[in-house]
Amino acid sequence: MSENIPMRNSLTVSKEDYEREVTVQGWVQDVRNLGGISFVILRDPHGILQIAVPKKKVPLEVFEILTSIPRESVIGISGVVKESKQAKMGFEILPNAVEVLGRAASPLPLGVVDKVGVEVETRFNNRFMDLRKPEVRAIFETKSLVLDLIGRYLGEKGFVEVFTPKIVASGAEGGASLFEVKYFDKLAYLAQSPQLYKQMLMSTGLDRVYEVGPAFRAEPSDTVRHVSEFISFDGEMAFISSQRDVMDVIEGCMLHAIKGVLQNGTKQLETLGRHIDLPKTPFPILTYSSVVEVLASEGRQISEGEDLGTEDERTLGEVMKSKGYDMYWIVEYPEGSKPFYIMEKEGTPFSHSFDLDYLGQEIASGGQREHRYDSLVRRMEKKGLEISSFKFYLDAFAYGMPPHGGWGLGVERLVQKMLGLPNIREAILFPRDRNRLTP
Ligand code: ATP
Ligand code: MG
Repeated sequence: MSENIPMRNSLTVSKEDYEREVTVQGWVQDVRNLGGISFVILRDPHGILQIAVPKKKVPLEVFEILTSIPRESVIGISGVVKESKQAKMGFEILPNAVEVLGRAASPLPLGVVDKVGVEVETRFNNRFMDLRKPEVRAIFETKSLVLDLIGRYLGEKGFVEVFTPKIVASGAEGGASLFEVKYFDKLAYLAQSPQLYKQMLMSTGLDRVYEVGPAFRAEPSDTVRHVSEFISFDGEMAFISSQRDVMDVIEGCMLHAIKGVLQNGTKQLETLGRHIDLPKTPFPILTYSSVVEVLASEGRQISEGEDLGTEDERTLGEVMKSKGYDMYWIVEYPEGSKPFYIMEKEGTPFSHSFDLDYLGQEIASGGQREHRYDSLVRRMEKKGLEISSFKFYLDAFAYGMPPHGGWGLGVERLVQKMLGLPNIREAILFPRDRNRLTP
């Protein structure tokens, strides 16, 4: 293509370009051959352009290439921008030259614009092609926006972004879901969460930290909200007076993220056909015990001390939605259903813990941590943990640890609920689960 011809795309071609020559590049979304004239729909990252190919008005070679080019090939076109009443965008391009930059094989593994429903597995097997759909890319643009908003919010609140190891010697969230890694001559694991490390930091003076990074869980169950690798948004705060301090930060952060998406993600929401409600504040606080009662009145019995199941969360979500609440807290879980690092509520079977649920699904868990060395060791023993494997962690509690608390939030669960996606995998570029290790 000539270097004197300005490079444009579907966003930047405008009325200013009428009767001027431009170069555009993109994928051949469709070719419509109507006898003497053909139309090529060229898609680029921002939208589509119409290329008109009248046999009599374009060079023969250009006509032949454009009328036989396989769909989804990448081409470059130089041509003159012409006003056109028939074209959707009000103009079309009359090509003088065409260059095939990346020829597509056929048949395609997956149609990009075909309206026919495709198996989810086919989509994930050919994710590169699936991602050519603007409505699929819009999910990841929104996810990126959410992460940007979260980071900025916490930065303003004095949080320092940290990065903790993902290859670790012991798990914090229960042995069953650990992935083993051969680490030289030792056995190691992929981190289930940054829990131990962010807590250790609380003994240092880095008193407000957050981390956004991968977390790994060998989840044997095949559900729409569990995957083996997800992005966890974790925070930890020292010198808190109660877990309420932590909940306030998350509540502010969630509102900031959703407001930000409503403001700056309008194009993506439009592409997805999604309307998001700003959750009503303050998020209501329900105790675990009151939730058990609500669920019982809805015909769902929970055995004493158990965590809520998928269906329980969904039912509670419906009850809360009917009252106008999209996001709500569940606090004071039985200590037995919470990990060792959570602080027990003295004299009761409960704990200083919370979950944040969004439209009938848990998206975050957190609470006040047990910072007192002796109580922590006692709790670890009660949970059957090998104390010696946690020496590096416990040491940080032995020489002056302030009261602290924090949270872990599943980024994809947040995006899933925000965008109304049926499956968490839709919010992950290349999902990992029991059955999927490629692509
Ligand atoms: P659940 O009860 O839904 O299985 P959990 O209580 O075991 O989740 P936590 O250990 O509390 O999970 O992890 C904190 C957050 O990380 C969860 O609230 C959730 O948003 C996210 N999360 C946990 N496990 C997964 C997973 N397998 N896939 C995706 N996100 C997850
Ligand atoms: Mg949880």
